[in-house]
Amino acid sequence: MSQLTINLEKCTGCGLCIKSCATDALHKENNKAMVNENCTLCGICIDSCPFEAISIEKENLEEVDLSLYEGIWVFAEQQKGEILPVVYELLGKGKELSLEKGCKLTALIFADEVQCNIQKLISYGADRVIFCEDAALAEKLDENYIELFDTLINKHKPDILLFGATGFGRSLAPRVAARVGTGLTADCTLLEIDKESGLLQQTRPAFGGNLMATIICPNHRPQMATVRPGVLLLQEENTSNEGEVIAVPMPTIRHNHIEILEEVLSGEINTIADAKIIVSVGRGIGSQKNMSLVHRLAELIGGNVGVTRSLVDIGWSQYENQIGQTGSTVAPKLLIACGISGAIQHLAGISNAETIIVINSDPDAPIFSVADYKVVGDCVEVIKKLIATLED
Ligand SMILES: Cc1cc2nc3c(=O)[nH]c(=O)nc-3n(C[C@H](O)[C@H](O)[C@H](O)COP(=O)(O)OP(=O)(O)OC[C@H]3O[C@@H](n4cnc5c(N)ncnc54)[C@H](O)[C@@H]3O)c2cc1C
Ligand code: SF4
Ligand code: SF4
Repeated sequence: MSQLTINLEKCTGCGLCIKSCATDALHKENNKAMVNENCTLCGICIDSCPFEAISIEKENLEEVDLSLYEGIWVFAEQQKGEILPVVYELLGKGKELSLEKGCKLTALIFADEVQCNIQKLISYGADRVIFCEDAALAEKLDENYIELFDTLINKHKPDILLFGATGFGRSLAPRVAARVGTGLTADCTLLEIDKESGLLQQTRPAFGGNLMATIICPNHRPQMATVRPGVLLLQEENTSNEGEVIAVPMPTIRHNHIEILEEVLSGEINTIADAKIIVSVGRGIGSQKNMSLVHRLAELIGGNVGVTRSLVDIGWSQYENQIGQTGSTVAPKLLIACGISGAIQHLAGISNAETIIVINSDPDAPIFSVADYKVVGDCVEVIKKLIATLED
């Protein structure tokens, strides 16, 4: 394993490294720097030491022959027999990247029944579908899926592997990455190919959403990323597409530690992420009582209610309605944003909305920067008038 080492002969106990460490992994003992288990091996303290007393000894990892890896893979997650919409979004982006790299796009679908969905994956751009149909895959147990990924990645050596950041995708992707010894960038908002190196540039919000970090995986394969539902644009389906279909057998399961006793789905799946019309509200709605007006307006125009994190925090709405960096990403045709300031973490979730109407009493509210139509005024009054007009 890699580890941080402090050369005690060189260390003068100046303490500069302790100040540089964000995880409190360094302290002093007998006037010498010491490292504890908080160390994430980020390496920042190395440069802070004027006496070159700190080093990181890297684990001797087997060098990967990157030239053997080719193609882009998308994991096609099913829920109750239906392919999740995020899969089609990933296939659209995967197709774009595969054309740029001049390689094949492969969809992977594993479940107890998959055959009816294979053509759908081809229609949305997959050149090839690798499927495994086995009763052992009826329940979404990471352990069963990991064996399949491990076997297939070792055999076919994909260059890039993409997952939807669904509950299952978030659980499975890091385990697959750990099993095959590669990295993973979670919750990407942008995927691009670097023209010079051909590497996948994986961009995601960092430091509480205040800046965007672009991450690469230069030494290991596959390059793995998850993308949240609604972040990528859905491309058109083409039912005349043709593709290769490969059936693979279920490998022997090495471990089986989990037994599913009952599966409980909380409400409808991705309601907000899939909504075509959203009435979205923030703290400017004023009171919990006014939420009934918001629900009435949404009902009248056939939409869903979305909220900012502030409203979830104060208990006026539930987390599943939250839009933004730590909530859902939405891509409705129409979004009516009422009493929302437009914090960067909220805007991160609405960049794919087609038309945005903003109602805010502050003409300088940052949310107006993304508005197609602007209403400066009291959102409660505007909502009441809209309801009255629509009920007429
Ligand atoms: C790591 C991190 C992750 C986060 N993730 C998210 C996230 O996923 N989603 C999210 O939403 N936030 C998120 N936040 C919080 C975010 O930074 C903001 O605090 C939050 O979005 C603000 O919510 P708001 O717009 O409802 O409230 P405020 O910022 O308080 O804005 C209220 C707005 O209402 C207007 N207003 C007041 N009265 C009226 C009225 N009568 N009529 C019309 N307008 C009125 C005001 O002018 C103001 O613009 C996150 C923060 C952090 C640090
Ligand atoms: S490597 Fe990073 S986490 Fe570890 S002690 Fe140095 S600064 Fe702290
Ligand atoms: S900065 Fe270098 S010399 Fe100073 S305490 Fe840390 S390890 Fe020792």
